[in-house]
Amino acid sequence: MPAELSVVVPLFNEAKNVPALVDAVQAACASIPDIELTLWLVNDGSGDTSQQVIEALAADHACVRAVELSKNFGKEAALSAGLDLAEGDAVVFMDADLQHPPECIRRFVEAWRAGADVVVGIRDTTADKSAFRKAFGALYAWVAQRLSDAPAAAGETDFCLLDRKVVLAARALKERERIFRGLVRWLGFRRVELHFDASSRYSGVPSYTFGKLVNLAFRSFTSQSQAPLRAVLYVGVLACLASLGGLTWMVLAERVIDPVWHYTALAKALVFTIGLVGVLQVSLGVTGLYVAHIHQEALQRPLYVVRRVYGEDAS
Ligand code: UDP
Ligand code: MG
Repeated sequence: MPAELSVVVPLFNEAKNVPALVDAVQAACASIPDIELTLWLVNDGSGDTSQQVIEALAADHACVRAVELSKNFGKEAALSAGLDLAEGDAVVFMDADLQHPPECIRRFVEAWRAGADVVVGIRDTTADKSAFRKAFGALYAWVAQRLSDAPAAAGETDFCLLDRKVVLAARALKERERIFRGLVRWLGFRRVELHFDASSRYSGVPSYTFGKLVNLAFRSFTSQSQAPLRAVLYVGVLACLASLGGLTWMVLAERVIDPVWHYTALAKALVFTIGLVGVLQVSLGVTGLYVAHIHQEALQRPLYVVRRVYGEDAS
């Protein structure tokens, strides 16, 4: 029996790209032995003719399913819709603009057949990104590497293959504020990373504006890491210690070491104020950490995920 492979594509205003994408994915999958392809095109509330285009494609190709979301929910939500809908032994997620090369699907499937549960595409280069976007991407990766409790690989993308058991585990994660690749990383399993070069967009411009990207970056920091809160706390503690040390030195210098030392009342008040600010910051940091714990609890993530049970009656 051939393995069932689902390919999920979230799309927003991609009418000009989808037909080429469908052809390219079909051609790429035709070269993979023993695979039965289903292509899930998830229209994320496009304002162009994407819906008509995907419906026509679904009518023409037995393997294409057209899914219409009721409005534009954003890529993360569209990926989740695909995650919930897609059947199959393995599910591949990829962009509609052909920046994720369909030829890579074959390598993904080979890695999966060799035992990987999760195959993640790592982007080495991007053909059409401006120098500014590249610099922002590099800065984001640098900060994320240091801040995150589970750091992402540089260039990590949403272009990935998930084994069915990973798809089922991912469906159980119900949090609303979600970063798909963060969830995939959190789930663990046997993970393989494969490198690729992102080509230029086939047609159109990216719908992720710079503002949306900054937004996504902040969301990913606050949803995946408590490091910023700890930084606030530590700076507060440092300010308290510095103020305490400064005041002690001022008093000791004047009274004990040598009376020639003299600090004005203003200088002492200033050092004291630094301490007060430190106390405030410590309480902010602590409060923040409590809120972060509440956030963690509210996510209701499973405490663990079983990959497989080995033994007599287990499959
Ligand atoms: N996308 C989507 N909903 C949105 C924005 C984007 O489904 O609200 C899709 C888009 O059609 C594409 C993928 O997400 O298939 C990546 O978007 P884009 O190419 O604009 O971003 P970038 O290449 O800069 O990551
Ligand atoms: Mg793109």
